[in-house]
Amino acid sequence: MGATDKYIKNYIGGALVPALSGNYLENYNPATGKVYSYLPDSEAEDVEKAVAAAEEAFAKWSGIGLQKRFRLLMRIADIIEQNMEEFAKAESTDTGKPLSMSSTVDIPRAVTNFRFFATGIVHFSTQSHYTEKEAFNFTLRQPLGVVGCISPWNLPLYLFTWKIAPALATGNCVVAKPSEWTPMTAFLLSKACIEAGLPAGVLNIVHGTGPKAGEAIVTHPQVKAISFTGGTKTGKRIASLAAPEFKKISLELGGKNPNIIFADCDFDQMMVDTLRSSFSNNGQICLCGSRILVERPLYEKFREEFIKRTRFLKVGDPFAKTSDLGALISKQQLEKVKSYIELAEMEGGTVLCGGKAPELDGKLADGWFFKPTVVEGLDNNCRFNQEEIFGPVVSLQPFDTEEEAIQLANGVRYGLSATVWTRDIAKASRMAEKLEAGIVWINCWMHRDLRTPFGGVKQSGVGREGGTEVLEFFTEAKNVCIKY
Ligand code: NDP
Repeated sequence: MGATDKYIKNYIGGALVPALSGNYLENYNPATGKVYSYLPDSEAEDVEKAVAAAEEAFAKWSGIGLQKRFRLLMRIADIIEQNMEEFAKAESTDTGKPLSMSSTVDIPRAVTNFRFFATGIVHFSTQSHYTEKEAFNFTLRQPLGVVGCISPWNLPLYLFTWKIAPALATGNCVVAKPSEWTPMTAFLLSKACIEAGLPAGVLNIVHGTGPKAGEAIVTHPQVKAISFTGGTKTGKRIASLAAPEFKKISLELGGKNPNIIFADCDFDQMMVDTLRSSFSNNGQICLCGSRILVERPLYEKFREEFIKRTRFLKVGDPFAKTSDLGALISKQQLEKVKSYIELAEMEGGTVLCGGKAPELDGKLADGWFFKPTVVEGLDNNCRFNQEEIFGPVVSLQPFDTEEEAIQLANGVRYGLSATVWTRDIAKASRMAEKLEAGIVWINCWMHRDLRTPFGGVKQSGVGREGGTEVLEFFTEAKNVCIKY
């Protein structure tokens, strides 16, 4: 795909173009804290061009036929796969995450997203109903037209394609915006689409900030639906902008997920997965379990072993094979995490390990690194246990009964996911029923099956992605009644 460009371009109407204003934003490498490339600072006029291109492409794309759409999406997947190393390096440079993660999780999943929805669409069928008095009804599922996809920085290409692939597969044309913090793999995706021969205007990628480029997509009258993943505050703003136009919205928002550990669990497996669910991607995964609730008889043993293993995790160069954790996404995010550590201490908590930046030298000296941190002794109602921190920081709380565990787990405004560790399947089922969450993991974490509904309740979101749910989101159901 050629060398990674220093100046990222928008992908509009099949061409790679700068923002109409000619303005660029700086793109940082979190591991060095230095600017390494530039992205278009797009505005409403760029979005206008993108929507016009998408509208023009819609009739052809929606009518091209399933087999052709299937083949083109599979081709995009193949091209990403063939360039796996370049994509993975770009993702790690942009996010600061270990290359071991971007090359085994982020980019492979982007490939899978295209393949999953390309194949999904050829198996997607609709309902029909025999109706009394000589009639039958069937449901036509038609694409919406031009749709908007807006994604965050934590799993950039992974989440971007999780939206784009089903939107395209169902025959929509897309105007999409990746996070301003992580534009590079979206740019590489533009190139992959050109190489694959995706017709001009079917996918348009507009780079820039949320308030300018993002809001222009959300408010554009021709954009029929918004699929958004990001923070709850931004989700509220998007919902308020989209509601007056009656746009369809799918909002995947923040979380403060509980990880509930009963004394009868498989200790070794639980420990391995709890370490992952706490610190994978620096805790910057919406599904990470940031509140660890441990049944009291196991609490001391858990704490000792968990701290020992947390201390053992290596924070360092994302490109070094030995690094378990890389850098946080931005200086602001690093400052936010630090401020929550101060808050934990003010609220009466004890930092058991971590709590500060590691001392790194050379090119990493100015990078945005933070040690994995464990805090205990905080009440469930304190801000530290209520607010989403989105960093390598977890809190420990003991509990005595199932009822108390449920109360603590549900006692936040979020409801994305929850994890339960126990060998007692009846207890696990009781917990699953009572937990206020869109996803409950029992004796595992992030064991993903893309056919399952994905999303949150309460302030963690509206709607579901994945499987047929997202294919329904990106289509409009039309009932046709035939009398014979
Ligand atoms: P943000 O909400 O800040 O941003 C997400 C995206 O929205 C970015 O592309 C951003 O643009 C854009 N945006 C910001 N403001 C607006 C606006 N007014 N109108 C339209 N678009 C806007 O989230 P982060 O990027 O900081 O991501 C972290 C958050 O994402 C966490 O809360 C995390 O829990 C959540 N998340 C949820 C997931 C889920 O599935 N539920 C999965 C992954 C993350 P830009 O940044 O370019 O300015």
